[in-house]
Amino acid sequence: MEKRYPDIHDIRSDKALYDYTIALKNRYLKKSSPLNKVLYDDKITLKKQALGLHSYIAKNHGGKTKSKNEIRISSKLRQVPEPLLRMVVVHELAHLKEKDHNKAFYQLCCHMQGDYHQLEFDLRLWLTMLELED
Ligand SMILES: [Zn+2]
Repeated sequence: MEKRYPDIHDIRSDKALYDYTIALKNRYLKKSSPLNKVLYDDKITLKKQALGLHSYIAKNHGGKTKSKNEIRISSKLRQVPEPLLRMVVVHELAHLKEKDHNKAFYQLCCHMQGDYHQLEFDLRLWLTMLELED
């Protein structure tokens, strides 16, 4: 694992994570709904195998409906190799277009990141290693 992914990314702050996510979105999903927030969240535990969360909140402001798209990424992913962080971001971005984990969803993931399935597998391994270290 260490050999395949030598470098831990340096996207530590929420601002850096937001910029990183928007760059990917602009490249692959320009026409999808805008993204208001992207942040690291300590409360997302990896035990439940949830790596990130995507939420879509529709609020009513004096007759006008305002919608908000947020992506939250487990803060455990502050310290993983870049391709693994990217896999989670790609996953959450794909939910902007496809709510369910269906065929179209995974096609979109693979479009954004060719080796998506391999990375998903590797990320599970990586996280298992982290848990063993705790
Ligand atoms: Zn999902």
